Amino acid sequence: MSLKPLLIATTVLATSSVASAQDATMTEVADGVFHFFAMGYSSMVVVGEDGVLVTDPSFTPRAKILQAELEKVTDKPVTHVALSHEHFDHVGGTEVFEGAEIIMQENGIDILKLSPLMPTPEVTTTFDDELTVDLGNQAVELRHLAVGDGVATTVARVAESNVVFSVDMYMPQEFSPHEFKEDTNFVGTGIILNTLVDWNPSYAINGHSAGNSVEALQENAQFFNELQARVEAKFQEAFASGDPAAPWNLLFSISGEIEMPEYSDWENYETAFPAYVRRMALSVLHGG
Ligand SMILES: [Zn+2]
Repeated sequence: MSLKPLLIATTVLATSSVASAQDATMTEVADGVFHFFAMGYSSMVVVGEDGVLVTDPSFTPRAKILQAELEKVTDKPVTHVALSHEHFDHVGGTEVFEGAEIIMQENGIDILKLSPLMPTPEVTTTFDDELTVDLGNQAVELRHLAVGDGVATTVARVAESNVVFSVDMYMPQEFSPHEFKEDTNFVGTGIILNTLVDWNPSYAINGHSAGNSVEALQENAQFFNELQARVEAKFQEAFASGDPAAPWNLLFSISGEIEMPEYSDWENYETAFPAYVRRMALSVLHGG
């Protein structure tokens, strides 16, 4: 998640009775593929001959708006709800789509059980690396390419139109506050972003921004590649020093040793960039 959607979500949860479809947009971005954006959150909506797949209803008031907006474009029922990952603000609202298959990558199941505060979707289907949902004339590929944000990280791709969907992997020219990145594996995030770029998508739905984010996806893939290279080079120097403590000492100092001023005009650079360096350092060195 990023900060702004959280604030919006919290407001909406607190005032769910007045939540409305006023600011929701349901934009057809390819044949039968819609980008639904409301309350700071995106969903991919794929309307096929045999049913409808939606991603991340996120929370109940938003799910109800999604259902109402969907009824304006199709009379087909929602047959599949695919969850992008296990974070609390992405797994609520599934109960609105009665009878639908609820799909989550298997790593997320144990995490959902740990916090008494988490919504607990009735997940009916899990998968390991990939699952293809056949909607008749449309196929939606769900892929777990790596652990990224959370551990059940899933991206979606519509085979026919090459529209992709990902969540909490990037924002257009913006660094997320570090609180939201502390369980994000940055090496995995880089793998996911580069794979999405390689797919050469026609349209990229991003978890928390409206519009086509293909350019932001490319920019962020480039940024993660550069950051990883800078961090790896620092650790290679530390290992080459022969001092077994050097890599560990570097963990404590590295956030003050790397700057990337070419990204200083991205939002939150001053406050969040050092945490990005530290997070990448942990992912590179420590596997977390
Ligand atoms: Zn998240």
